[in-house]
Amino acid sequence: MFANFSIIDIVDVLLVAAILYYFYRLMKESGSLNVFIGILVFFFIWVIVSYLLDMRLLGSIMDQLMSVGTIALIVIFHEEVRNFFKRLGSNRRLRFISSYFSRKDSEDDGNEAVVPIVLACASMAQQKVGALIVIEKNDPLGEIASTGEVINANVGQRLIEAIFFKNAPLHDGAIIVRGNRIVAAQCILPVSHDLSIPKELGLRHRSAMGIAEKTDALAIVVSEETGAISVAKDGKFMLNLDAHKLEEILSAQD
Ligand code: ATP
Ligand code: MG
Repeated sequence: MFANFSIIDIVDVLLVAAILYYFYRLMKESGSLNVFIGILVFFFIWVIVSYLLDMRLLGSIMDQLMSVGTIALIVIFHEEVRNFFKRLGSNRRLRFISSYFSRKDSEDDGNEAVVPIVLACASMAQQKVGALIVIEKNDPLGEIASTGEVINANVGQRLIEAIFFKNAPLHDGAIIVRGNRIVAAQCILPVSHDLSIPKELGLRHRSAMGIAEKTDALAIVVSEETGAISVAKDGKFMLNLDAHKLEEILSAQD
């Protein structure tokens, strides 16, 4: 059985293992780990039945399920599949491909927005005004912006504070910042299902994490309860930041 086991076969096995691991991580992040385990169990039973034991009848039924199942899985997990290809496309080492296709205004890199955002966050933190600010990077956030109210104004400290002022009409939800513009306010973000987020963090923090998991955006949270400033980026939280650290994070270009 192992007589004609070539290097290609080893590469083949390693590739399958890598893909499985990648899907395992994606599923774990999106909280559907049990489904992943279920699929794996089914797959192993299928291999045993069809290839090792060569049971024709059960094997053919499972063959059918496998072929229909692939399509069913794509439908059920369209979001995870989408994330998979999105990550593949936005992989740092493959970035140079996408940089040929997207022309970006080098002047409009959003650096002017850093100071007003930091000042507004520091001031809101001091007054314990809750805020949620999402800064768009390469992944477009148009869909998220369309869940809110169009603003389309230059970023300004007083404007940000006015938006999040307690009981102001637009204080709920997130604002989306693109370059030096506030695109929209009162936007609804996807909520993260990550179980490792501390229990005391509520929906404002979970939705910041949600957008940071799904896109390369950076989300700043000012807590209404504690006045703490936190940033979610690349699916990770940086908690309890001071203004100086926040400025450092926002200024860092990647
Ligand atoms: P805080 O520390 O400020 O209390 P928290 O993480 O405990 O924050 P909540 O107390 O649940 O969060 O905050 C609720 C607020 O979070 C809502 O009033 C709303 O403005 C915002 N929010 C909740 N869910 C979303 C969402 N999916 N997208 C955007 N904003 C949301
Ligand atoms: Mg709360």
